[in-house]
Parts: sequence; structure tokens; C-alpha cells
Amino acid sequence: MTAVNSSEPRYAELTAQIARRLLDHDGPVVILSHVEPDGDAIGSCLGLQRALRSLGKDATTYMDVPRYLRFVPEPGEIEPRLASWPENALLVVLDVDNNDVRRVDGADLSAYAGDVLNVDHHGTNRRVATLGLVDPTKAATALMVMHLVDALGAAWTPELATPVLLGINTDTGSFRFSNTSPEVLRAAADLVERGARLAWMNEMLSQQQPSYYALLREVLSSMEFLEGGLVVVARVDEAMLARAGAAWEDVESYVNVIRGAEGTELACLFKDFGDRTKLSLRSRGRVSAQNVAVACGGGGHVAAAGATVTAPYAEARALMERATRAELERVGLV
Ligand code: 5GP
Ligand code: MN
Repeated sequence: MTAVNSSEPRYAELTAQIARRLLDHDGPVVILSHVEPDGDAIGSCLGLQRALRSLGKDATTYMDVPRYLRFVPEPGEIEPRLASWPENALLVVLDVDNNDVRRVDGADLSAYAGDVLNVDHHGTNRRVATLGLVDPTKAATALMVMHLVDALGAAWTPELATPVLLGINTDTGSFRFSNTSPEVLRAAADLVERGARLAWMNEMLSQQQPSYYALLREVLSSMEFLEGGLVVVARVDEAMLARAGAAWEDVESYVNVIRGAEGTELACLFKDFGDRTKLSLRSRGRVSAQNVAVACGGGGHVAAAGATVTAPYAEARALMERATRAELERVGLV
């Protein structure tokens, strides 16, 4: 295993190495990303898959696509789950710390012993892939996939540019977050020039089912302010979903609703699964959501992070409150 450091100019060199490894491979390429895939996960996978297929390669993404992202792939383009590993497969893991098998979805990793190529932008990535391109300064994995597509020599088409732009659009909060760098805007401009359908994807992303509004009412009524208003939390459980006629996959966007609360530095949405609790954390930048997530056994970025705590809500909430207090003390806010 090669530990890699993706600081320039190693970045271009590693991108070229990954491209060469993919181009040299004759067998099927299996593309996977993280559980609860978001726009960057699906956009990165589909971008790479379409590029490889345009070059005559056998490449397939295995992913459980949530309802709100089903407009992205063509029918049959993404497979739900890999049943058994094909002979001579090569695994590519995108937008996820590949060291954490609980985070990678779409296939049974314990049944695979081959090489792993990892392209990712998480600061918590432990860099254990055979060949990895990990750069936490990149706003989205899709931005790195864009560079990989160039290194592969695939021709840009609207079908290729659109998912790549979706990934960048998602992870920058539609070009609003502080990671919206000049590099991001230039890349987005290039992708739009190549036919990426930005207005279309934003329209598709903004459409909500009636159950969204029913669940929104539930989420808002669970909202609480902690630490004198510096922290906002909300919770979703099975009973709330049942009342709203919604599913767990519909819950992703609510943390972005509560994070707008004025005066808060940290937002946390708890998904209360009963025996297990998932935390989605968002920060405005003064506190590190990543530090709070890591203290709860998870990971992510400074601005957006998460953790899955194997404990009921009350315990997970107490853990989060302790971790949050420590982080607020560290930055001098309490
Ligand atoms: P979200 O809150 O949207 O699920 O995740 C926000 C960020 O935190 C993403 O970058 C995601 O990769 C990371 N993240 C979310 N949940 C977990 C988790 O359980 N473990 C780790 N290591 N990272 C997580
Ligand atoms: Mn991402």
C-alpha cells in the first residue's frame, strides 16, 4: 500500500497515475461511494463511469440512489448492489474514506482483495488505498474527477459535464459556501461551456414531494437552541416519518434548513433510528463540525461532517453536547 499526499505537484502526477491504471485495466471497473449518497457521490461516480464507458471500458456504479437524485442517471445506468465480484475487477472508491468499510456502500468489501483506487476530498481520509488521490483543499470529489477525466483523455460532452457539475454544485451549496474558490468557479464555467445543464439540475433538485413539507413541519417543531443560541438541533425519528409519509432517504436536506438560524455557529440534525443515531453537522466556519463529528466517532469536513453513534438518541445527544461544548471552548465562544 502506498500512503499518498496530494499536495501540488504530486496532485497532477497521482491523477495521471490513476488514469494510467484505469486505462491499462482490461477487466470490469467497479465504482462505489458512500452510504446515503449525495450529489457529489453520484456525480463523481457517474462522471467517471461515463468517461470510462466513452473510452470503451466496462465500468459500473453500484449505489442505492435516493429518491431526490433519481433524475441524474439514465434508467439502468446505475446498479443497486453488486451481487458478486466479477473476475479481474478493479475497485474505484469515490468521495469516501475507503478505510472505513462502514462508510462504503454498494458491495461487500470483505469479499474483495484486489487493488483500490481512491479519489476523495475528506480531511479524515486515512490514505490506505493502493493508489489514492486525496486532497482536502478540493471543494468536491467531482472537481477531482474532472481532472481525472482530462487525464483519461475522454471527450467532454453534456452527458459527462452535467454529473461532474452536479457534484461541485452540491458540495459548494450551489456556489454559496466558503469553499466556492476561483478554481471552483472556473471549473463550473468550463463545465457549463461543455454543455452541463446547471439550471436544469437546480430545478430538478428544488422540486419537493408533498411529504417534504409534512416532514418539514415535524422537523421544525423539534428544533431547539443550545449554548445560548450558538447551537441549533433538530431530530427525526421513525414515528415522524410515518406521520409525514416520508422515508429516511428524504431527510438529507433538513440540516440545511435549520443551519440558517441566525446567531448559530453549529447545526445538528439527529436521525434517531432507535438503537442507533446519525448526526449531520454543519458549521458556519468558526467552529469545526469535523472536530465534533470525530469526537462522536465520525468524520467529514470543517463545514460539514457527520457521525453514526451506536446508542439511542439520549446518549448520542449527550455525547454531541459534550463534544460541542469542548469545541466551543477550544475556539473561545464559551
Ligand atoms: P451528511 O451530514 O451530509 O451525511 O455528511 C456530511 C459530511 O460528513 C460528508 O462529507 C460525509 O462524508 C461525512 N460523514 C457523515 N456521516 C459520517 C460518518 O458516520 N462517518 C464519517 N467518517 N463521516 C461522515
Ligand atoms: Mn464530497
